[in-house]
Amino acid sequence: MEKELPGCARCPINTQDRVCQQEDGKSPLFCPTQNYQAVIEKALDELKKPEILEFARQASIQEGEGYANRDLGYEKVTPNKPRIMETIEFAHRMNYKRLGLVFCIGLVKEAKVVEKLLSSEGFEVVSALCKLGREPKETIGVHDDQKIRIGCFESMCNPIAQAFVLNSENTEFNIVMGLCVGHDSLFLKYSQALCTVLAAKDRLLGHNPLAAIYTIDSYYRSLKQ
Ligand code: SF4
Repeated sequence: MEKELPGCARCPINTQDRVCQQEDGKSPLFCPTQNYQAVIEKALDELKKPEILEFARQASIQEGEGYANRDLGYEKVTPNKPRIMETIEFAHRMNYKRLGLVFCIGLVKEAKVVEKLLSSEGFEVVSALCKLGREPKETIGVHDDQKIRIGCFESMCNPIAQAFVLNSENTEFNIVMGLCVGHDSLFLKYSQALCTVLAAKDRLLGHNPLAAIYTIDSYYRSLKQ
């Protein structure tokens, strides 16, 4: 019988009763907690690297501190800070001094605000906009009728250059803000430092891609067909 692909997103077990939440929990046949023990061990081996362990430990502490009222019990906890605060706190926790900020030209105003916030927190900020390098889209084989402004010069997004600029300045942690689908992938591939995404680009939905998912049974029901 062909093995089913791991499918946590399809898991039919109640969240709190899952084997990934408790030792005697339940699991479906495609459960990676049950079927991928060797892989899970390998992941734990990575955490033996001190710098990775410290990063993971601080991320988990940051996660816990994202909730208030923990002393009152799980039912009473409430989220207590937005992602920008978490990002700043986490960078302080890790004792980073120099941060990278990459952003889309559509978010220049927001980038200015974020840069100011980070600088006022004492970080050195190296920032790089998607269009840096002014390389024409033709360089990567984009035709004129595939541009946004047909018939005009258009700089291509250059996420590899964004990564290389930050890499040459030895940024310790890179913040990604509003890069396009695919351009973000290339940036993440070529960035030397670990990254976090402050905002995922969604031109239509004000950079809140989940709005289409939240409204999948109403305004975005056509996505299901
Ligand atoms: S790890 Fe197993 S039990 Fe947990 S969500 Fe995935 S499939 Fe379900």
